[in-house]
Amino acid sequence: MIVAERKPFEEIAQSVAGFRRVLVAGCGTCVAVCLTGGEKEAGILAAQLDIAAQLGEREQAFSVGCVERQCDREFLEELAPQVEQADAVLSLACGAGIQFLAEQYPEVPVLAGVNTTFIGINDDVGVWQEKCRSCRDCVLTLTGGICPVTLCPKGMLNGPCGGGEDGKCETDPERDCAWALIAARLERTGRLGGLEDIVPARDRRNALPGKQVHPAYERRYSAHE
Ligand code: SF4
Ligand code: SF4
Repeated sequence: MIVAERKPFEEIAQSVAGFRRVLVAGCGTCVAVCLTGGEKEAGILAAQLDIAAQLGEREQAFSVGCVERQCDREFLEELAPQVEQADAVLSLACGAGIQFLAEQYPEVPVLAGVNTTFIGINDDVGVWQEKCRSCRDCVLTLTGGICPVTLCPKGMLNGPCGGGEDGKCETDPERDCAWALIAARLERTGRLGGLEDIVPARDRRNALPGKQVHPAYERRYSAHE
């Protein structure tokens, strides 16, 4: 899932300051699960902004909308009647959802109410852990299902940097060295030999924005090109 955290209230209040009618738009998927931008959080934020506006004697009105996913055109279309009534939309979706909302409604200012933090997992109640940097060249098969791109601050792809001590990371003795974890896991599963395969240097072209078309739809879209 994509994890996000709400921006500081002062920053949000400042971003909506120039608008009379603001739609606070939640997203019902990842940001709802991480208790940041779902319908409930959108309602709470709208109420807080409303109180702040009243205290500041500003004439502002805050409405609330929420769709299943802001990163999906079909769901975004459901917001149209509410967007039409707004001078600005404050989105609580992840960065992808906010951008797609802005793209779908080009005439309306779109504001970001959250900071997208990472792709991660729900580790415990109210706790999320980063697991993947979406590098587009996954090495998890070789590294025992532990990601060195995410867990190693130096992004070492072919073994440890040599600076770690007692299984802890050189950059932070409180953290496990990613490669100590990888080696332990591979040893446990009898796959240490796989580390002899060299992972080549990353293709920096992967730093460009990605696009993916499912093979079943390739013909449909190539016909349009
Ligand atoms: S190697 Fe790590 S960052 Fe890259 S895709 Fe796999 S899990 Fe994600
Ligand atoms: S000690 Fe391990 S995790 Fe830390 S930077 Fe070096 S290889 Fe990466």
